[in-house]
Amino acid sequence: MEKPVRKLWPGRALRSILRVPLFLNGIFLAAVLCGSGSGVTPALGGNGRLQALRIDGSFDPDSNLLNATAKLSFIGPAGMQQLWLANELQLHWVRGGAMTVLPFTSETGLFAVQCPPGNELELSYSGRLPSRPDPFAADTPRGKAVIDDCRFLSYIADYYPHPQLDFASMEMSMRIPSGWNCLGSGTLRSVQPEADGNIYSFSNPQAKGMSLVCGRFRPLGQVAAVVPLRLHGWDGFDYRRYYSDAEMARLLSFYSERFGPLGVPELNILFRRGKNFGGISYSGLIVLNIDESWDRLQPRTRPDPQCGSLLALDDVWSDLLSHEVSHQWWGGLVSWETAADHWITEGLATYSSLLYLKERRGEKAFARVRRRFHDDVKRYAGRGVTVDGGKLKLLHRDIQVYQALVYMKPALMFAALADTIGEAELCRRLRDFLTECRCRNVGTIELLSRLSAGDEELRLQLEAWICERGLPKGL
Ligand SMILES: [Zn+2]
Repeated sequence: MEKPVRKLWPGRALRSILRVPLFLNGIFLAAVLCGSGSGVTPALGGNGRLQALRIDGSFDPDSNLLNATAKLSFIGPAGMQQLWLANELQLHWVRGGAMTVLPFTSETGLFAVQCPPGNELELSYSGRLPSRPDPFAADTPRGKAVIDDCRFLSYIADYYPHPQLDFASMEMSMRIPSGWNCLGSGTLRSVQPEADGNIYSFSNPQAKGMSLVCGRFRPLGQVAAVVPLRLHGWDGFDYRRYYSDAEMARLLSFYSERFGPLGVPELNILFRRGKNFGGISYSGLIVLNIDESWDRLQPRTRPDPQCGSLLALDDVWSDLLSHEVSHQWWGGLVSWETAADHWITEGLATYSSLLYLKERRGEKAFARVRRRFHDDVKRYAGRGVTVDGGKLKLLHRDIQVYQALVYMKPALMFAALADTIGEAELCRRLRDFLTECRCRNVGTIELLSRLSAGDEELRLQLEAWICERGLPKGL
């Protein structure tokens, strides 16, 4: 029934530069979370697309040991599948018989499996995951990263076998040792106490992946909002010094009114101690770095809230929250197709933050930040094009080039489009986009076509913003 599978790849994982960044990454981060090769390598001829993924296993955050089985269900016959799995993880068996296992390369964790007949593939695997750099530590000066110890099992780290990065139904049950808490993408269905830990079960009817965050945090409270919020953080943390319940509820209502309902039963927010300003957003789960010294310091002695980031708008805490929460729509409900389309989620998240800034602080503040965006983008607009995406980080070694071209320039394009067709009409087109493309990956040309609604001249103008150097004057 089950055939052993030989070790597929020796050595340490080298992440390919073709791997694309996480669909949701930090606002103030240079976070280089290398992702899987979605869109990099075409699927092997005509096989079924992933429909559902179920993972059962255990993870020890102290040792990074992972032991799990994954069941993948495909739409149509599974046939030959190429799967991603971290190099450090050893496949043990493939139920029904792995007729062929072909490691494509020793570097990327990509391999092929000839699946048993039918629509399903079940694999057992285990290993010690490398202690990857904390996603929030990328820009933290040495010695400043005094942060809560969290373990991130991000789906882009390939901690379970998956083909490409597509939306699918996700279910996960993971045993975590006592003393650790766990949050995951989607909804926490149950916590089942066991002798040596707890089994956390999560589900998400449609998500681009399943991620987990383990830490020594605890529930802090709940906020009644259009999407109910569950808040988590370190013992003794008073989140209301940073965010009022009313502000968080207002933000959720604001986005829901403009972009449509999120359609999730709840949203978890984890506040985590960290000296750098950043956040990360998974479907149904947001992690925010909080500098706990902030509210104890006088304004003059506080660290620079922008931390060299061009993306801080007006109020660092509000900007951080509004950016990451908007990713629940832009990234959570629709996502990018390839690395070149990464601007879609970041540009829309940045524009969403601008809209919320206008709501909160008024037209003048909006106009002031928009002018500053314009000046910053103009400074970098000759260095590349928006569809260069994450390559800009590698080419220029300057996070500001990346922020200006992938986050801010598209946000300016959306603002210019709102000038032309009206903000209400733009939001209507964005709502339609979310409705019609819900739970799928979208490319640049498709989004621009939808936004221009059949106006070919407008579409070409939008394309110039995204695909050409320089800063257009408007639309
Ligand atoms: Zn972002």
